[in-house]
This record gives sequence, structure tokens and C-alpha cells, in this order.
Amino acid sequence: AKAEGRNRLCFYGQAMRDRLTARTQLENELREAIEARQFILHYQPQVDAAGRLIGAEALLRWLHPRRGVVPPGEVIPIAEETGLILPIGHQVIELACAQLAQWAGMADRAGLTLSINVSARQFRHAGFVDDVRTALRDTGANPARLRIELTESMLLEDIDEVIERMTELRSLGVSFSLDDFGTGYSSLAYLKRLPLAELKIDHSFVRDVLVDANDAAIARTIIALAHTMGLEVIAEGVETEAQRALLAEGGCDAYQGYLFGRPAPADELPRTARAPAPS
Ligand code: C2E
Ligand code: CA
Ligand code: CA
Ligand code: CA
Repeated sequence: AKAEGRNRLCFYGQAMRDRLTARTQLENELREAIEARQFILHYQPQVDAAGRLIGAEALLRWLHPRRGVVPPGEVIPIAEETGLILPIGHQVIELACAQLAQWAGMADRAGLTLSINVSARQFRHAGFVDDVRTALRDTGANPARLRIELTESMLLEDIDEVIERMTELRSLGVSFSLDDFGTGYSSLAYLKRLPLAELKIDHSFVRDVLVDANDAAIARTIIALAHTMGLEVIAEGVETEAQRALLAEGGCDAYQGYLFGRPAPADELPRTARAPAPS
């Protein structure tokens, strides 16, 4: 039994070493990817109640030289741990602003917003506001078309500092959405102090909205809360017409999900813009 125990110890030791090696390798590859600019953005359409395109969310993709397209779930956690989220997030801002400038005609005509995801660590970083200001200036993108999605975890930090930073960006013309709403810890007292334009109902409430009475009640409550506070509300992860219809009954303003389009390269978005409204 003693020998067995020692073997097991060895086994765990080896497994842990393998995990560490894999992690270190991924970290090194991420550094190279930043250097070689292997990150791109895919864009997922957002539509209003009539099915018209009103915006898009930019979602990070890593064009890995051997593995192909790597989703953000494999990148963001380790990027946040290592601090590599700062240079990656910087590239996201630049890519999004460049795309926005390219869409200028369409975006301004249709009043489209382009939403980007920003990690807490990136938002708290001292250079963040300047990064956004510089990217907007260098690309000529219209700040009124840029929206930043923040998550509730941000609000666990120094709330006054968060509000100050948001206010600075608001004065540039940028707007804010609170992402994954309902999954975190936001206190309603904080919520009313934040200069938000939009709440985003998390996918986890939308998924079972037809079968789980609690999720349906939560979705309705978020919609009512948003409207009481003068905010727009968008539901993410809408996959079926029945889900859309139920959310629409509750008064939801906007929708995003596979029902309307998957995240895709930029040149596919205008086509979605001309897609017929769902009936
Ligand atoms: P998120 O912000 O909640 O983004 C929505 C995720 O749901 C995206 O996954 C999207 O592809 C997926 N999705 C959209 N519609 C549907 C649907 O109808 N059904 C289902 N099952 N899924 C749907 P993705 O692209 O893998 O991104 C995952 C997460 O990675 C994002 O979650 C966000 O938290 C993070 N992320 C993505 N891009 C960035 C970025 O540029 N910066 C940072 N900091 N985080 C990012
Ligand atoms: Ca998001
Ligand atoms: Ca989400
Ligand atoms: Ca999110």
C-alpha cells in the first residue's frame, strides 16, 4: 500500500508537471501571437424587436498557425492571470476602432453600435482611457458608435474609481453595457450610480426561459428593472423564435444569438444587415 501511495504521488506529480508545461507553452505562444498580431475579431449581429440590425458584438478569435481558430475561452483566463490581457485587450480596441471606421457610412446611417468586451484588469489599468482615446483618434472612428461591455465583477473593485473612469469615457462619447447581468454581485445601489446605456441579460437565463419559470421571472424582472432605470436591455444567447417571442412579450428591446447570426468575420455583417426580419 505504501508503494502504491508513492506511485500515486508520482502520478499526480507528473500530471501537474504536464499541466504546468502546457500552461507555460500556451503562455509563450500567446506572447508570440501578440507579437505576430494573430488575433482577430468576429462580429455577432444584434437586432431590435423588428429584427433590424442595430449593432454587433466583437468577439476575440486567435488565428493559431497550426490549430486554426481558437475561441476566447482558451485565451482569456490565462491572459488575465498572466497580465497578457493588457496587450491583447489593446489590440482588440485597435481592431474594433479600425473596423468601426471602415463601417462608418453604414454604422452612422443605421445608428449601429459596436460592443467590445473589456476585462476588469484591463479596465482598471491606468492607460485604458488613453488607449481608447488614441485608437478612436488614429482610426477616425465615431466614439458614439463604440460601446464597452463591463461585467459585474468590476463592481467589486473600488466603485468610485470605476465610475470616474466610466464618466471619462462617457465624455468621449463612448457608451456602456453591463454584461452577463444577473450572474454576479451587482447591488442595485451601485447600479443606479453607473452611467450605463444597457443591461445584457445573461445567456444562462435565456437558455431555459421557456421551461424554467424562475429564469422567465428573472428575465422579466431584469427587463422591468432596466426600463425603470431608463436603460435598454438586450438578451444574449437567443437561439429559437420561441425564446425571442417570450422575451419580446416581456418588453425586451434587443436580441443577440444564433437565431440572428453566429459570430463571423466583419465582411459578413452587412449581409446580415439586409436579412429579413424574423416573423
Ligand atoms: P460573452 O461576452 O458572454 O459573449 C457571448 C458568447 O456567447 C460568445 O462566445 C458567443 O459566441 C456566444 N454565443 C452567442 N450567441 C450564442 C447562442 O445563441 N448560443 C450559444 N450557446 N452561445 C452563443 P465566445 O465568442 O466564445 O466568447 C466567450 C467569452 O469570452 C465572452 O462571453 C467574453 O466573456 C469573452 N471574450 C470574448 N472576446 C473578448 C475580448 O475581446 N476581451 C475580453 N476581455 N473578453 C472577451
Ligand atoms: Ca459580452
Ligand atoms: Ca454571457
Ligand atoms: Ca461576458
